Amino acid sequence: MNELFSLQNKKILITGSARGIGFILARGLAQYGADIIINGTTAEGTDKAVRELREEGYTAYAMPFDVTDSGAVKDAVQRIESTIGAIDVLINNAGIQRRHPFTEFPEQEWDDVIAVNQKAVFLVSQTVARYMVKRNRGKIINIGSMQSELGRDNITPYAASKGAVKMLTRGMCVELARYNIQVNGIAPGYFSTDMTKALEEDDAFTAWLTKRTPAGRWGDPQELIGAAVFLAAKSSDFVNGHLLFVDGGMSVAV
Ligand code: NDP
Repeated sequence: MNELFSLQNKKILITGSARGIGFILARGLAQYGADIIINGTTAEGTDKAVRELREEGYTAYAMPFDVTDSGAVKDAVQRIESTIGAIDVLINNAGIQRRHPFTEFPEQEWDDVIAVNQKAVFLVSQTVARYMVKRNRGKIINIGSMQSELGRDNITPYAASKGAVKMLTRGMCVELARYNIQVNGIAPGYFSTDMTKALEEDDAFTAWLTKRTPAGRWGDPQELIGAAVFLAAKSSDFVNGHLLFVDGGMSVAV
């Protein structure tokens, strides 16, 4: 395999990879040689994902923990480092979305969205980066959203959290580049997963989306793999603080 895109023997922790985009990335990165650490909120979900990858011949480990719980994050990262091996790449992918009109948005749900999508990126990255700094190498990939660029009905806290992910990516990039750690992000457009199921079932939404997206369609989660491989591999060693939009052109079109 071309060394530029090889992930052979790289250990990659992907938060929220028991299903959805995280799981698709897990399998995609494993195909390039990576050993994957699967995370999610339950042992049942992470075990199932690991079983599936192992049955396909890949190396995968389950590490369920709540990314918003700083104690659980520290324990899990310490366990990975001591029993599985050094984390070469961290992908902050865990995310949730809640939908309500702005004036009716429950405070608790605002807190939940900010905790998972924003604060957890800080918690998990800080914990992993402390190990990466000692090794003087590493890569962190934050899954943001095209929604950091656009306002839309009912998801203001989500958009705000993804705006924060964009700036966390830039801030962390500046502070960690001196330790040979590259921090970048991927900003997906609309992809079919559990998170977007309700939108997908809404014909009016799909009609709007296909008209609004230059590519004229929903994204397939498989189409995020190339960006993740590029940002996880040697190919991106001098790419710092970049947010790579994979959105069929939606974020740049009027
Ligand atoms: P899904 O809802 O399909 O999956 C979310 C994953 O995150 C699940 O594995 C879930 O775990 C995990 N998760 C949620 N909360 C926590 C937590 N507290 N601790 C650990 N894991 C947690 O979402 P998607 O795959 O669609 O989204 C993945 C990422 O991509 C998110 O950051 C999302 O914002 C982003 N994104 C998605 C887009 C889309 O169109 N789908 C568009 C733009 C960005 P469990 O399985 O245990 O519930």
